[in-house]
Amino acid sequence: MAILVCGGAGYIGSHMVAELLEKGEEVVILDNLEKGHRQALLGGKFYEGDLRDSNLLDLVFNENKIDAVIDFAADSLVGESVVEPLKYFENNIGSTVNLLKAMRDHKVRHIVFSSTAATYGEPESIPILEEDKTIPTNPYGESKLAVEKILKWCDNAYGITYTALRYFNAAGAHVNGKIGEDHSPESHLIPLILEVALGKREKIMIFGDDYPTEDGTCVRDYIHVTDLANAHLLALKRLRNGGKSIICNLGNGEGFSVKEVIEVARKVTGQVIKAEIAPRRAGDPAVLIASSDRATSELGWKPKYNSIENIIETAWEWHKNNPNGYEK
Ligand code: UDP
Repeated sequence: MAILVCGGAGYIGSHMVAELLEKGEEVVILDNLEKGHRQALLGGKFYEGDLRDSNLLDLVFNENKIDAVIDFAADSLVGESVVEPLKYFENNIGSTVNLLKAMRDHKVRHIVFSSTAATYGEPESIPILEEDKTIPTNPYGESKLAVEKILKWCDNAYGITYTALRYFNAAGAHVNGKIGEDHSPESHLIPLILEVALGKREKIMIFGDDYPTEDGTCVRDYIHVTDLANAHLLALKRLRNGGKSIICNLGNGEGFSVKEVIEVARKVTGQVIKAEIAPRRAGDPAVLIASSDRATSELGWKPKYNSIENIIETAWEWHKNNPNGYEK
């Protein structure tokens, strides 16, 4: 049986495809290549198109024996979502609803869904537990939380079991050096810092230094993209073995401030990396750190790349060797 990876040509999706291929799984990929890259796919059967295209979904499910779906296809920029909330509700909720309809019609019973730490909003305590309050501070988090709720009702009505994985900050690149992070425009902290190290950008802007944290800058829990992909493999195995629907955080359980990340990148790259304080970015909570105890106990997950140095080193290898990202 094959696994359908939606958004498989994107940053996390392409690392997922790499892990699935390594495990000998049959992989089918659907991506509209709006943000994804054809070159990021190391194998699998590729369909170019959009999740909102029901005819295409029917074709994909008819042409392949798919027993499970992993869904990465979404818009995922916190700042943009505040400015364009309807884009987020339409794309992130609409496309998953369409996918679920096709899964219902074609009797596909398992889905691993990319959710996010942004579902929590400003956390009530740290580390964040899955049962903590979910009051998103931005439409991106709100759209993912809405899908989590939709998944619950689809399980109830159609018996589609799900694992919603709430990622903290995905970072790093594959150790094989072949795939990495390439967004355009780039908006994520670590790749932007590395662009400064490469001389492609003059300085990194630190979005706010007046947060209630030790150095005043936002604290995040950075998790290696291959560790994320591995959690999906375990979630898939569990669902295929009859495991019940579940929501799990995925993080390293350790937080680093924006200033600390810049400092580690200076050490790893040996470059100066100029930084400047800028106003806060809308929708950013001060601190997000995961408790991943549930992923450990329920999925048997254990991150391998659990130091920020290691995460930044793998990202640096990719950016150094691919200063302009994938060939256009
Ligand atoms: N950030 C920053 N400068 C940048 C980009 C990001 O200070 O140019 C901060 C951002 O405010 C957040 C953290 O870095 O606190 C991580 O942001 P990123 O966009 O990488 O991931 P997100 O937390 O939005 O998923």
